[in-house]
Amino acid sequence: MLYLKTDEEIALIKESNQLVSKTLAEVARHIQPGVSTLYLDSIAETFIRDHSAVPAFKGYNGFPATLCTSVNDQVVHGIPSKYTLKEGDIISVDCGVILDGWYGDSAYTFPVGNIKQEVKKLIDYTLASLEEGVKEAVDGNRIGDISNAVQTKAESGGFTVVRELVGHGIGKNLHEPPEVPNFGRKGSGHKMSRGLVICIEPMVNMGRKETVQSRDGWTIRTIDGKPSAHFEYAVAVNKGKADVLTTFGFIDEVLNNM
Ligand code: MG
Ligand code: MG
Repeated sequence: MLYLKTDEEIALIKESNQLVSKTLAEVARHIQPGVSTLYLDSIAETFIRDHSAVPAFKGYNGFPATLCTSVNDQVVHGIPSKYTLKEGDIISVDCGVILDGWYGDSAYTFPVGNIKQEVKKLIDYTLASLEEGVKEAVDGNRIGDISNAVQTKAESGGFTVVRELVGHGIGKNLHEPPEVPNFGRKGSGHKMSRGLVICIEPMVNMGRKETVQSRDGWTIRTIDGKPSAHFEYAVAVNKGKADVLTTFGFIDEVLNNM
């Protein structure tokens, strides 16, 4: 059984996800060549605690940081480190918070300075695949409708989708049923009802779809060393159209003024 949230609960989950959106925008201000991923992590942790919330990833299954910072061929779960960003890198920043007991979880892939056109295309298609997935998150549809929409859009750009990691339900827990894969058949999987809150998070690779886990026990990389992009929204399934609980509007504001 899937836990359906009330409108009041969804409003609280939205608060939490809006704080994640603002945290990612705060991080965005600092993304430039020469900045370490550990510094970005400290910016995020301070911002979250200043807003009466708790970083959700820190300590989760032993993860050591507030952010997952995944650069270039790192797909997800990169650990912030002394690595300093270089012109032409891309960095996926994944952030989670707990606010008043409710979880928020979102990710955005940023360019560092000027990036290659083909890498820009990868980022654009990954974001577009997320948006295609969101369109399917409506009452009466099935999870596979989201999965298929994401996969179809990503592959139409000549890219591949990661299989080993998936989206998920969210609420009082960071990860709840159902799993939300980024590949699959239309009409398959759980039927969605109004009140289901899920994170849709395509991980899209420029080369092969296969990934490997690094020796640090966390970082997932592409098997061929080619770049990967990742975006994530929390959405509440509704009749006709999903309610997106995340916004990239705060990030856009920052990026447009840099
Ligand atoms: Mg996430
Ligand atoms: Mg997630």
